[in-house]
Amino acid sequence: MIHTLTLNPAIDKLLFLPEFKKNITNRLQSDDASMGGKGTHVSMNLHNMGISNRAYGIAYGETGSKIIQMLEQYGIEVHFLQKPEKNSRTNYIIIEENGDCSTLASPGVSLDQDIIDEITARLIEELEPDDSLILSGDTSNCYDPCVYNYMLQKLKDKKIKIFLDASGPTLEKCLDASPFLIKPNQDELSQLCGKDLQTEADIVSAIESLSRCNIPIIAVSLGGDGSIVKYNDTIYRVIPPEVSVCNTIGCGDCFLSGMIYGIEKNYPIEKTLTIATAVSAATAESRFSVGFDPVRAKKLAGQVKITQLN
Ligand code: ATP
Ligand code: MG
Repeated sequence: MIHTLTLNPAIDKLLFLPEFKKNITNRLQSDDASMGGKGTHVSMNLHNMGISNRAYGIAYGETGSKIIQMLEQYGIEVHFLQKPEKNSRTNYIIIEENGDCSTLASPGVSLDQDIIDEITARLIEELEPDDSLILSGDTSNCYDPCVYNYMLQKLKDKKIKIFLDASGPTLEKCLDASPFLIKPNQDELSQLCGKDLQTEADIVSAIESLSRCNIPIIAVSLGGDGSIVKYNDTIYRVIPPEVSVCNTIGCGDCFLSGMIYGIEKNYPIEKTLTIATAVSAATAESRFSVGFDPVRAKKLAGQVKITQLN
């Protein structure tokens, strides 16, 4: 079974306008609401691909109820802690006609150690050995932003497969727990290595420097430039198809979802990379931050290029 965790879920308000200008009244072309929070995005994408999964997280107040309702309506098995007090956050995403996307992220409800212990206890109780746990997204609302590391220590005996999409000190601290997969983007890998990684060679040597951590899959995503992915000892360069970009928020979550899908299906790595790249390119074309057109993704898969770098 696959489980996702979202510690700071959100409703994303999508604000579409031709171009955002400061110090004037910007008139929106349209607006929409979409699910926010990376773990929930992965749950929804996996569900779209026919992979059942459980969504864990913590939801507060009315916005939290809406988040749970949206997930349930989508058909996801929701195992969130639901708290009547306070309110889960709402983020605002400015989406301009040229494809630029800017997020105004609210801090969200602060999580203390007691609530983290409560959700961790639920995971310990409900997860089985060999299950997969997707730890992705914001932990800045937690008493300790390295909370994933704390949770992994507690879950150690469960022998679960960890997929980690995190950044900063959390990512660094969790490397010792040897996750099965990490998915830093270029900035996140630069921060992890303490260097401004610019070229393909920079990224490859940064990936190689992590070999001591025993992480089977290191997938470095590079936005519209695709990805560089280490699978066991082989490093692949993946070039996505060119698409007409509408909203790139959530592409990373969809890429991760595609990787999980291929791994779950036991597909060869090239097929897994092709699917992950195609579904995330289809997400870039879509208005929403989660959900993609499967027919379009299938067509885009035929245009993904993969080469081996070593
Ligand atoms: P986020 O955290 O906002 O979801 P991210 O920075 O983690 O994003 P990206 O590197 O932006 O993730 O994107 C993940 C993958 O999505 C890329 O590796 C690529 O395959 C695909 N992708 C992103 N942007 C585009 C684009 N403009 N055209 C085609 N594919 C894209
Ligand atoms: Mg990301």
